[in-house]
Amino acid sequence: MAVQLPRTNKSGFYEIRMESVGGLGANVAGKILGEAGVLAMGLNGANFASYGAEKKGTPVKSFVRFCAPDQQVRTASPVEFPHLLAILHESLIRAGIAQEGITHDTTVVVNSTHPAEKIRQDLGMCGGALGVIDASGIAAAEKSRANMVMLGAMTRASGFLDQQAIRDAVSENLGHKYPKLLQGNLRALDRGFSELELQQFSCDLEHPDQPLRRAGPPIGYENGPMGGTIVNPGNTMEKDLSAARMGRIPLYDHDKCINCGKCEYTCPDFCYTFTDGTDHKGRRGRIFAGIDYRYCKGCLRCVEACPTEALTAGDDNEEYVAEHTTSQMKAGS
Ligand code: SF4
Ligand code: SF4
Repeated sequence: MAVQLPRTNKSGFYEIRMESVGGLGANVAGKILGEAGVLAMGLNGANFASYGAEKKGTPVKSFVRFCAPDQQVRTASPVEFPHLLAILHESLIRAGIAQEGITHDTTVVVNSTHPAEKIRQDLGMCGGALGVIDASGIAAAEKSRANMVMLGAMTRASGFLDQQAIRDAVSENLGHKYPKLLQGNLRALDRGFSELELQQFSCDLEHPDQPLRRAGPPIGYENGPMGGTIVNPGNTMEKDLSAARMGRIPLYDHDKCINCGKCEYTCPDFCYTFTDGTDHKGRRGRIFAGIDYRYCKGCLRCVEACPTEALTAGDDNEEYVAEHTTSQMKAGS
């Protein structure tokens, strides 16, 4: 006997979208959700993902559709207006990508350490439900990944997905390949389920059925340059690649720095800036001028290279990054 879907769209589907970046495991999480729903919960459904270059840090979307077992799935179009939206990397909100298609009754789960009210405002939500969980922190503590915590949180937020069915699908998918990591993954999943707090919001919009945002290309056939010319080659307008970070950043302690430059040689993304100046002992030379976090992917090679512990590993923190990426760096890039 199939579980009852709590609500469906006009085509009879309950739709889920995961907004993520390459390397966080949204594709695997979508596969596990789809398998659990179809093989263990008696639903019909489909799962697929959309991504560009197969590179860590590039945007990834994973989609899952469920419907009654006697209904055929005749669409493979992206999920535009999800019933359940999971955002695995917070910088996708800042980029304005993740919140597309949120409606007055979308349930949103976000991986963040920020208060729910701030996230709600950033998302522009009116109505719906929101759950914020520190999936990266829990994943690090359990030696797992954020996708497992978010799977647990999504299971809880959906109101109909069966926790045991998801656990079994995780064991089936990851148990053979990574047997030593399975218990940690299951703990992360269970913590996502039990630690999510979902808040409901009311909507005072005059026409609440209209989606608050709808995806649209910034440049299309009506406003694109002649001949499809790329006028800003190799760059985004903001040159902000911070979505590529995997939850960790180098933190800098000025007092311990000896201006040796090892961090600069080591960084594969040229994040380090040096300038002419005077060091602690009054000697003239090239001195450390800061880390341009916009390009930092959090690999932490610089932390390993630093001989004085002037660089240490810390959790990715939007405020710290904004404070330490100076306007001179932005102007000079
Ligand atoms: S963490 Fe990696 S990308 Fe970031 S500054 Fe250090 S070496 Fe560069
Ligand atoms: S490696 Fe460490 S000590 Fe050397 S310049 Fe970089 S931060 Fe300073």
